[in-house]
Amino acid sequence: MPGQAGQLLERILSGLAPQECPVTHHTVLPARDGSTADWPAWAPDDVVTALAGTGIRFPWSHQRLAADTAWSGQHVVLSTGTASGKSFGYRLPVLSALYTANAHETGNGGARQRSAATATGAHSATGATALYLAPTKALAADQVRGVTELQLPGIRAATYDGDTPTAERDWVRTHANWVFTNPDMLHFGILARHSRWQRLLRDLRYIVIDECHSYRGVFGSHVALLLRRLYRIAEHYGARPVLVLASATMAEPAEFATRLTGLDCTAVTEDASPHGARTVALWEPPLRPEVTGENGAPVRRSAGAEAARVLADLVTEGARTLAFVRSRRGAELTALTAARYLSEVDQDLAAQVAVYRAGLLSEERRALERDLLDGRLRGVATTNALELGVDIAGLDAVVLAGYPGTLASFWQQAGRAGRAGAESLVVFIARDDPLDTYLVHNPSAILDQPFEATVLDPGNPNVLAPHLVCAAAELPLRAGELDRFGRGARTLLDSLASCGTLRRRASGWYWTSLRHPHEEVAIRGTGGEQITVVEGETARILGTVDPATACATVHPGAVYLHQGTSYVVDELDLDHHVAFVHHEDPEWNTTARQTTDIAVLEVERQLDAGGIRMALGTVTVTEQVVGYLRKLPSGEVIDQVPLDLPPQRLTTRAVWYSISEELLNGRAPGGARLDPERLPGALHAAEHAAIGLLPLFATCDRWDVGGVSTALHEDTGEATVFVHDGHPGGAGFADRGYATLIPWLAATREAIVSCECSAGCPSCVQSPKCGNGNEPLDKAGAVTVLDIVLGATREEGIGGT
Ligand SMILES: [Zn+2]
Ligand SMILES: [Zn+2]
Repeated sequence: MPGQAGQLLERILSGLAPQECPVTHHTVLPARDGSTADWPAWAPDDVVTALAGTGIRFPWSHQRLAADTAWSGQHVVLSTGTASGKSFGYRLPVLSALYTANAHETGNGGARQRSAATATGAHSATGATALYLAPTKALAADQVRGVTELQLPGIRAATYDGDTPTAERDWVRTHANWVFTNPDMLHFGILARHSRWQRLLRDLRYIVIDECHSYRGVFGSHVALLLRRLYRIAEHYGARPVLVLASATMAEPAEFATRLTGLDCTAVTEDASPHGARTVALWEPPLRPEVTGENGAPVRRSAGAEAARVLADLVTEGARTLAFVRSRRGAELTALTAARYLSEVDQDLAAQVAVYRAGLLSEERRALERDLLDGRLRGVATTNALELGVDIAGLDAVVLAGYPGTLASFWQQAGRAGRAGAESLVVFIARDDPLDTYLVHNPSAILDQPFEATVLDPGNPNVLAPHLVCAAAELPLRAGELDRFGRGARTLLDSLASCGTLRRRASGWYWTSLRHPHEEVAIRGTGGEQITVVEGETARILGTVDPATACATVHPGAVYLHQGTSYVVDELDLDHHVAFVHHEDPEWNTTARQTTDIAVLEVERQLDAGGIRMALGTVTVTEQVVGYLRKLPSGEVIDQVPLDLPPQRLTTRAVWYSISEELLNGRAPGGARLDPERLPGALHAAEHAAIGLLPLFATCDRWDVGGVSTALHEDTGEATVFVHDGHPGGAGFADRGYATLIPWLAATREAIVSCECSAGCPSCVQSPKCGNGNEPLDKAGAVTVLDIVLGATREEGIGGT
């Protein structure tokens, strides 16, 4: 371990016996020199001067390439690391277009590109406008500030979000030429009332889609359809805006951007910004012999507790460190614990640790960022709140307590460490689950090849149908323009017409009601009426919960977190769509337990290989929350509380594999004998671990998917393991699972084998949400089952990887 970062790591490990060393791997990522490009000739001098005034002497070559691509009229996605200056990539073309059109109205550049249609009826045209879309309000606010500070004449940038006062909204509609908003406001505020936005839409030259990797799963599917609707309306007013997307590093950015927007996008991925060498250490907390979890399983020291220790050590060493912890409560605990360790050494050091949480005012955030950057604060613990749009980079060390769910997030967080010419340290501490176990034992999954694809499914009829209704309300839908909404659109429109939601006329599909259908579409949810969470005493509404997950998240007794404050649920009234809570901060957290039944409705694709059948299709899932587990932050289980809640049924998509009896009893070639009594536990363990590993291949959370395993399933007639999407109609996870089934199962086997426990624990085959109390589970049997499946498919030459 050469270099400063290596020495730093050695010092925080000093005092541990070699057999106690929690670091499973460490590697040094070499320093990279930056590579700059000239300013493009097409950029107006004033724009160049203003941008140069922010400290940019020359653009990095990836910034220049992205800007050139956008300027030339091609849709582009810039997918590079944290602090690589992605915002510059869109600011340069957008500002150039707006500046040219507004500061020099004499008909060069900007004005020339306006289409003929905009000229008709256009009066007092501004010539060029732009729209910026961010997943959060905070990020849009940061960006608008950055643009405003440039003080370029003719650039009228403004936010339009839920916080914008009514009077200001009018100004934004009539005067702003660069509007910064979010998907929610685009849906409710802009598209629903697009005629009021004619001025902006008619001249729309660019649409910037920032942090686009966060548009995944059901939310991503909604945003994909919103963008199609936006483009359709812009075209209606005669504009053909160029899309500029920015994303964290991800696999296949061009494919993703094209799927998200429905338009062909070019990717720029070669990051030319410089950074110092980075030491990445993978860290597996030790098992704690004195504590036992469910069914006597061993428990590891929690990632949060371990992070607190590492954070304290790094602060002691003088390293400015940011620790990412998955939950808000976890972040607070980590900061508190680190401060307590430090106070034993030096009170001054203890005062240099703080927590950064969502809900801080923007001035408070700025102050905290400044203090951390200039070293007045040494250690900050945070949740993902800090992941988006925060101006912190160039730290000495980053600690990640638990995998943040996607590689994009992993590198976004890790990228806060390191600046040109200085070494930095990244410590990834595994949580007690199969995916983290796999990652700390298979560093190449993090360091080399990204397996995961950012998954979304705009074809999901449950998501598509309400967007078609909104689109028809915005402008009648013509048969000739349905391509943009995908293959399923026609069938859905016919059924929307036959049930009377839309009216079919010769010229297309019409929405004939006077009210807007938009209010009823929850673009961050899966459909159905949201459950409102209400504080009983004050009748204050805290938030809403998706009906599909309400039983699991706001059941009676559940600990519900809202902006860092803890509440306990008193009552869940499913009939009236409301959950009542009271303020309380118990020392435990809760995890719902649910049982699942599954029936196959339709098999869409299947593949047979030597006694294994792999399939993808539509299923009906019946889930019932049967109780919840109370756990201490250490992982120690207090008890399991039973619940009596009605079963919930959903139709969704699933991937499954079934194994013939011949293979299982060893009669078929490649079969291994597995005692029939062990089969249920073996399949169950294989199912749990597979669900835990799917996020490695699809950008989902283990809570986005569910599973069922059975020694004999009615519909397949064989021993079967199902993994299904947790959302009505699916969000693309099962489809991705089917596409990567063999590597996914191979990684699942690897995760189980890597875990040092003897009979199964949360790091391998136990699942936090198992409705059967994690019984039966047969860890060794799961490996046998996976060997049988992988062996049979290898025989047939399926899978490759
Ligand atoms: Zn284990
Ligand atoms: Zn289970």
